[in-house]
Amino acid sequence: MPKHTINPVISLMMAFLLCLCCASKTAYASEAQTDVLLVNHSNPLPQDYEPDDLVNLYAQKRHFRLASSEIYLDRETFEAANEMFKQAEKDGVNKFTITSGYRTWAAQEKLYFKDTTGTTAAPGESEHQTGLAFDVTTRHGSGGFESTKQYKWLIKHCWEYGFILRYPKDKEEITGFTCEPWHYRYVGVDIAKVIHENDWTLEEYCDAK
Ligand code: ZN
Repeated sequence: MPKHTINPVISLMMAFLLCLCCASKTAYASEAQTDVLLVNHSNPLPQDYEPDDLVNLYAQKRHFRLASSEIYLDRETFEAANEMFKQAEKDGVNKFTITSGYRTWAAQEKLYFKDTTGTTAAPGESEHQTGLAFDVTTRHGSGGFESTKQYKWLIKHCWEYGFILRYPKDKEEITGFTCEPWHYRYVGVDIAKVIHENDWTLEEYCDAK
């Protein structure tokens, strides 16, 4: 008999706990929606990872130049980059040339084995396999890209269009990559703003979540 009086209490408590559990799971799920793809030496992509909506930049109406007719990017990344370079053009800063976009695992492997400096990412560890990153330069810079007005404009404004300078100076220990003034990664405006305001890398953003 006492069993019958205790059991409903226990089941009520269990139902309550279950609700709490569901509530926290729901909260987690909505946080996960703002998740971002982190690729680095510790978080490699699988060999068969392929972005599902790539566009050939050569076939697009665009506000930047291309180093080749065979450069592809994720569609949303291209659209954001195009808006960014359109605004740069309005500000009188142009002649940006995209030199690299999406790379397959196999293409990265080729570069990796060709490189004698040891700075090229191993296959799977390059953001170029995501289709969300591009390399940019200008033909009119003396010295490195970081000494150009194009670089200065990008550093100031890229976050407004959802991009981050992925491998900044003095953050090599965190990113695992030496500084690459030419490499930009699309993370969306909300995340880029947080990263910009905190002077973070993508690793620091992911750690802080
Ligand atoms: Zn790059």
